[in-house]
Order: sequence, then structure tokens, then C-alpha cells
Amino acid sequence: MDTIAAIATPRGNGGIGIIRISGPEAPQIAEKICGILPIPRTATFRNFRDPHQQILDQGLALFFPKPNSFTGEDVIELQGHGGMVVLDMILQATVDHGARLAKPGEFSERAFLNDRIDLAQAEAIADLIESNNRSAAKLAMRSLVGEFSQCVNEVALKTEAMRLFVEAAIDFPEEEIDFLAESDICEKISGCRELLVDLISKSDSGSLIREGLKVVLCGAPNVGKSSIMNRLSGRQRAIVSSEPGTTRDLIEDGIVLDGININLIDTAGFRDDPGEIEQQGIRLAENAVRNADLVLYIRDSSKLLGDDLLHFLDDTNRVLTVWNKIDLNEENEERERTENEVFVSAKTGAGIESLGSIIRKTAIGEQDESNLFLARQRHLESLQRALKHIDGAKYQTAIGMGELVAEELRSAHQALGEITGEVSSDDLLGKIFSSFCIGK
Ligand code: GDP
Repeated sequence: MDTIAAIATPRGNGGIGIIRISGPEAPQIAEKICGILPIPRTATFRNFRDPHQQILDQGLALFFPKPNSFTGEDVIELQGHGGMVVLDMILQATVDHGARLAKPGEFSERAFLNDRIDLAQAEAIADLIESNNRSAAKLAMRSLVGEFSQCVNEVALKTEAMRLFVEAAIDFPEEEIDFLAESDICEKISGCRELLVDLISKSDSGSLIREGLKVVLCGAPNVGKSSIMNRLSGRQRAIVSSEPGTTRDLIEDGIVLDGININLIDTAGFRDDPGEIEQQGIRLAENAVRNADLVLYIRDSSKLLGDDLLHFLDDTNRVLTVWNKIDLNEENEERERTENEVFVSAKTGAGIESLGSIIRKTAIGEQDESNLFLARQRHLESLQRALKHIDGAKYQTAIGMGELVAEELRSAHQALGEITGEVSSDDLLGKIFSSFCIGK
């Protein structure tokens, strides 16, 4: 491993700017720039000099000897003034003394390669830095301290233990089938499956917090979709008109509801005899609905129209029926409501606030938000793959195919190992760390 250096603070002017150096040469480079090697983990005020002994800046130098540093290598931090030119000059001095400019995410990658953190934790660092709402930041922190990895490892260890057990059974072929049938392996697999399903559910909901929710408003023309969109976003985003068919393109607006990012999408109203342009709008709307995390099916509570507009929705869509215009029909107050229904008036604002919290709840379910995991798409795919193999193991157990049970359990274990990086390829690591910023 060579020695890498980078400016770890954002580009721009600030009170303090930090240069980070990591690798075997870091202590010598610090000695050359600062005149001495600082006492470990003690802030030391020094002049920072270039190779010609010119003073470039003054500031604090910190030395974190290996292995107790972020990267697991010798790390030096030089905290100077936060100006781009001065920081560039100090960085250049590190290079003159033998360091190489770090690639994006290279410090985190080294931390991973030196077993300081696992892959999911490394990703959590990026997620924490990039999180754009409080919920995401809190959940990123959970992953960073290893709670997500712990849950993944728990399932992984169980699959591994079961595999070893099944393989031991295979070593005694005459007894194998009985062994499998009599043992509680089937129960154990089911228990493991339960843990995994719970983990998937927490990760699915958490990933919505990471990505933001895509909420699509749909319904017949004139039911008040645009008015509700404007109410939710608190501004005039979509045109409201009593003339049907005014919204033809998709109109999108990002809002933050109770700390969660929501991408609201207003669509063209669905109706039976649309004009040519409107028809195109309806096609866009149908597409948006299919890709939505949550569909708000807006209906006019003052008119009782049929439900047939929902023909293109399937079981996978989460749908909340929003009865609008309750100001026109007081009786609505008395109506019994199901949990997937809400009554509002875009005109008076009645019910809009609770619509907000219901959107949030419908999307992330009944889960306590603090229990969720800020999963990435790659984690979700691995978890689903693990589930598929656990189900495969269950099936093979039922028909007494010991070797195939072991194989399925091995594959499940491998899928889980990909999340924490126990199993990883250079390609995958390259892809993950190159999306980090420099100095991270
Ligand atoms: P969209 O075509 O579904 O987007 O509906 P709009 O938001 O354009 O509204 C259609 C008409 O219904 C407009 O004249 C609105 O002023 C009216 N409208 C919308 N929401 C309400 C409501 O809650 N109460 C009443 N009385 N009128 C509403």
C-alpha cells in the first residue's frame, strides 16, 4: 500500500481545512512538513512548510498510529486554514514528499480492506454524508455503528450453522434422510426465514427513506388532484381549473413531510373519451402509477363515481383513497372510513395535515421508524436472493435432498456475505467506492 493524501473538507472558503494522509509514509511526511512527528492523538500546533522550508500555513497536526486509525494505517491530519489555495499548497507538499493523491472513497476503501469497517458500514458513511433529511441521517448512523450488519450477520451465521449440520448429516448417508426428517432443521430454517423476512421489511421501508417516496396523485378529471398537490406542497405548483383535462404532463414537486423526502407527481385525469394530447398524458400517468411507492387515488366525495379507474393498478401498488371536496358534503364527516381512506378538502385545507402523516405511515408501514434500515438497492437484491435460497433449502429439506439443502444454504450465506463485503469482487468495490467523494 502506498501513501495517499487528500483535502478532506469541502472545496470553498472556511475557517478550517483538513488534509488527510494515510499509509506507511504518513509519519515521515508529517515530520517533513511539521518539523516533528506529533505525539499520537494529541493536537500539536505547528507551522506547515514546503520542501524549501517556506511556511505555507499554521495549524494543528494530529497523528493516529496504526492500527487504531480510521483506515487502520498510520494517519496524519493537518488542520490548516480553509482556503483552497493554501490547502492545495499543503497537499502539494505531501505529494512532493512522496504521497499520492487519493482517489474518491480511497480512505474508506482502506478502512474496509483493513477490517476497520465492513462494506455496509463504509456505504453508511457515504449515506450519512449525503443524507438529505433527518430520518435518513439517523438511519445511516445506525448502519454506521453496525446495527444493520449485525442483523445480516445473525442470519448469515444461522445459515452457516445449518449448512454445517446438514453436511454432517450427509457424511452418514444411510441415516441422512431420517436425520433430516427427525432433526429440527426444518424449524430452524423457518426461524431463519422469519428473521430474514423481518430484515427485508425493515430494509424495504428504510430504503424508501433513503431514496424518498414517489407519491403519485391520480383520479378522474376535476376531482381536485392539482389542488391537493398544491396544498401538500404549500405552493401553486399545478394549474387548478374547473375545466377538465388541464393537467397533461406529469407535474413533479419535491417536499419534505415529517422529515421524509416525498416526490409528489400530479397526473392527467383518467377518463374514457380523452383528446389526443390528453391521451398521451394518461399514458404517462399510468406509467407513473406503476412506478409509484404510493398512489393517492383522488375521488370527489360529493359525487359517487365507480371504481373502474383503478383497473390498471395491481396488488403491488399501495393505494390510499383520498375523498376530496368534503366541504361540499357535510355528511362525509359522519361516514365510516377504512384505514385506506382519508377525507380532505383542498379548498378549506381540512384533513390535509393528517393526509401528510397518513402518506408517511402508508408508505413506511406500521414499523417504528427508528427500527428501519437505510438499505441500498444492492442490499435489497442480496436479501431477496438470500430469501429465495432459504425457501429453496426449505423445499429441499421437505423432499429429503440433503446435498441440495446444503447448496441452497451456502448460496443464501453467500448472498448475505455480499452485503457486508465478506464476499466481494474488485468490480463491486470499485463501483461502490468510486461514488464516494475525495477525502472520504
Ligand atoms: P384536477 O383536474 O383533478 O387536477 O382538479 P383541480 O385541482 O384542477 O380542481 C378542479 C376544480 O375543483 C377546481 O375548480 C377547484 O377549485 C375545485 N376544487 C378542488 N378541490 C376542491 C375542494 O376541496 N372543494 C371544493 N369545493 N372545490 C374544489
